[in-house]
Amino acid sequence: MTERLRILVIGSGGREHALAWKLARSPSVDVVHIAPGNGGTESDKVINVKIAADDFTELVSYARKHGLNLVVVGPEAPLVDGIEGFFRAVGIRCFGPSKGAARMEGSKAFSKDFMRRHGIPTAAFRNFTDYESARDYLDSVNHDVVIKADGLAAGKGVIIPTTKKEAHDALKQIMVAREFGSAGSQVVIEEFLEGEELSVLTFSDGYTIRSLPPAQDHKRALDGDQGPNTGGMGCYAPTRVASKELIAQIDREIVQPTIDCMRREGMPFVGMLFTGLMITKNGPKVLEYNVRGGDPETQTLLPLLSDETDLAKVMQACTEHWLDGVDLKIEPKFSATVVACAEGYPGTYAKNRPITLHTPPEDVLVFHAGTGRDGKQVVSTGGRVIASTATAATLEEAVAKAYKGMATIKFDGMHFRNDIAHRAFKRKAQGEVHEEAA
Ligand code: AMP
Repeated sequence: MTERLRILVIGSGGREHALAWKLARSPSVDVVHIAPGNGGTESDKVINVKIAADDFTELVSYARKHGLNLVVVGPEAPLVDGIEGFFRAVGIRCFGPSKGAARMEGSKAFSKDFMRRHGIPTAAFRNFTDYESARDYLDSVNHDVVIKADGLAAGKGVIIPTTKKEAHDALKQIMVAREFGSAGSQVVIEEFLEGEELSVLTFSDGYTIRSLPPAQDHKRALDGDQGPNTGGMGCYAPTRVASKELIAQIDREIVQPTIDCMRREGMPFVGMLFTGLMITKNGPKVLEYNVRGGDPETQTLLPLLSDETDLAKVMQACTEHWLDGVDLKIEPKFSATVVACAEGYPGTYAKNRPITLHTPPEDVLVFHAGTGRDGKQVVSTGGRVIASTATAATLEEAVAKAYKGMATIKFDGMHFRNDIAHRAFKRKAQGEVHEEAA
């Protein structure tokens, strides 16, 4: 008889809502607990647990008390801080990498050195631990650069200067003023790459890889890719920024070697590896690795995973190293996600705004992110508040439906992008690349 799974999802964002939703549909799952969850995560099979994602000792004792046997970690911070080891120590499976493997996201200098050692294509770079050397190097280069704080900086530690002065200011901000705290004790200065971005999310058991269809996020706050960078304003998949052949090549020549080299270096990767790529005229190059699913990529991609694929079993297979026996069934459809944000986001934003929710249309899923409950009333608690995801036979329909879903959500000051998938539509209008589902 196959083992029944009792899950603990860790985190409170839109990604974790999508994970809890999909896991609750897995035939092998009895119950999903989510710590701490948000104002939308609870359902028939999903229970919110009031324990913070960084309280490892409490999380372990809760999991033991409730007989939970598979932990799924959503965000990067607990992984980088070693949550996997806490569950391993008590024999509870954890879908998420060890502290050692999580350095691939926890330190940009570490991951860049890894890529250099193994010949994985990435932007030319240098790492610096002292300000004077970094400053002198900046003076000496004559190409455009990107400056990155080494450690976790909640998605804000990457600065793309447009002038030399801005580059120097950014360096000072990170290394002297320490605006990102200890994340700025080291910086990566790398070559600016031109091209279109693409995200590949891959399940791995440390040996085998199974990638989801490629997705394209929208990082800037405003339409037309204007305004400041955000955590992600929307997403669609599959994207044909790259051809099917190129996607297969990325798996073969970038993702699989990454997994193999990590294992050989004694830090096998178990969990979801996110490879952020720039498709340049010289081929795909890795911008960064994340050691967990993207947000909002996860909300966009999980609805494309067919109900024939039991997500909890896939995750169990990763933790027990039998992913080679697992096939991911992907629906031949498109998916699109639009994220609604709080007034002021990505700067200082308003909180505690009541949210009105009407029933969304068919094939639309509403994933909460920064929401909570004040009695029965759903209120905003975060910057990225709530998202609408839709699937359909064509990308046009998926996007249109996601916006119909958005029309069922209301709160004061809410804002979202109106042009999700605009690059795909432009490519199609130019007849450049034929968009087709998986
Ligand atoms: P990262 O967290 O390293 O992926 O950087 C965040 C964002 O900055 C990426 O999603 C890109 O939009 C941009 N970026 C990072 N590195 C580069 C680069 N070398 N060239 C151009 N854009 C970059």
